[in-house]
Amino acid sequence: MKAHEYQAKEIFSRYGIPVEQHVLCSTPDEAVTAFRQLGVNKVAIKAQVLTGGRGKAGGVKLADSETLVRQHAQEILNITIKGFPVTRILISEAVDIAAEYYTSFTIDRNARSVVLIMSAAGGMDIEEVARKTPEKIIHCNIDPLIGLPKYLAQRFAFTLFKQAEQAKRMTTILQDLYKAFIENDASLAEINPLVLTAKGTLRAIDAKMVFDDNALYRHPDVQALFEPTPEEQLEATAKERGFSYVRMDGDIGCMVNGAGLAMTTMDMIKLYGGSPANFLDIGGSSNPVKVIEAMKILLNDSKVKAVFINIFGGITRCDDVAIGLIQAFDQLQTDIPVIVRLTGTNENIGRKLLKDSNRFQVAETMNEATLMAVKSVKGETL
Ligand code: GDP
Ligand code: MN
Repeated sequence: MKAHEYQAKEIFSRYGIPVEQHVLCSTPDEAVTAFRQLGVNKVAIKAQVLTGGRGKAGGVKLADSETLVRQHAQEILNITIKGFPVTRILISEAVDIAAEYYTSFTIDRNARSVVLIMSAAGGMDIEEVARKTPEKIIHCNIDPLIGLPKYLAQRFAFTLFKQAEQAKRMTTILQDLYKAFIENDASLAEINPLVLTAKGTLRAIDAKMVFDDNALYRHPDVQALFEPTPEEQLEATAKERGFSYVRMDGDIGCMVNGAGLAMTTMDMIKLYGGSPANFLDIGGSSNPVKVIEAMKILLNDSKVKAVFINIFGGITRCDDVAIGLIQAFDQLQTDIPVIVRLTGTNENIGRKLLKDSNRFQVAETMNEATLMAVKSVKGETL
């Protein structure tokens, strides 16, 4: 789970990491009020979206008058960054930047430990730095049994800062950031840029935190920060209903029993030149209630032009599945083409029932079914 900058900054503040005071706004009027309220000469206006690269996309601007604050706030609230429309902006005191550094803690799976990543070449081009001049990025693995005691933090801090006073400040920031990372079961705690100000102090002017979803149950306060996009909301609803659902870009809705078969179904669709709209594992059984629930999730996605139901009747009998599907589609109001491939116990009976209902396109093999689904969305006749 990702947190917004303003949320990550609240966590940073709690751990003593220096961040500017800030106000979250959703209109230009609010931004102007915030500017007055902060009572500073210059503010940074920043889009709050769950993606990086806001600066380069025009989502970060500085302003030193009410007119400019209003103008920039309006501009930023009108843009969409990497598919995320900007609905809120953060107004914070602008910092005089002497140098930009990069600092983060994340998981190094190969080393089976947390890794501290630092660079003196921080800022908006950090990806480029990593690609072209990887020697400018410092990696320090953290022994989980030792953690980050002061002597270690100090040693790491001195690799980036030569002046004692700055290294001392960095030592504290490293320890605080590590604590925030560990205590919240984060998978990333990143400051980019960590800024050396004209006055010689260090400030986190950007903040990013990503949390381990599997550990969220231990952190209700973190969980409360979750602001799902409509898509994530749909995935969460599916999860509550016992489905495993991941939305994709394509137009063929998939309903499959079993994760492996669901993956294979998506691969097959791709192989035949189509594009799956989702991954959906409805689990072992396929009773009508489940099918209806699953179909509702699929139909919620306006991109879905056909549904491919791929069922392996291992324990479940195919005639039961067919009866379930027929009952379900009696209740569903949709004329979307539905392609069904059933295999397993009593498959012949199941297929006959489906064919006789005249509601489904019925296939015997996975090849045949996939081809039907792909042709159906392309508007080709079979
Ligand atoms: P990102 O592009 O999404 O990572 O957004 P950041 O918050 O990191 O901002 C991008 C860039 O805008 C930073 O690297 C800074 O160069 C600049 N910036 C952000 N806030 C300030 C500020 O308060 N003062 C100044 N001078 N520059 C800022
Ligand atoms: Mn940044």
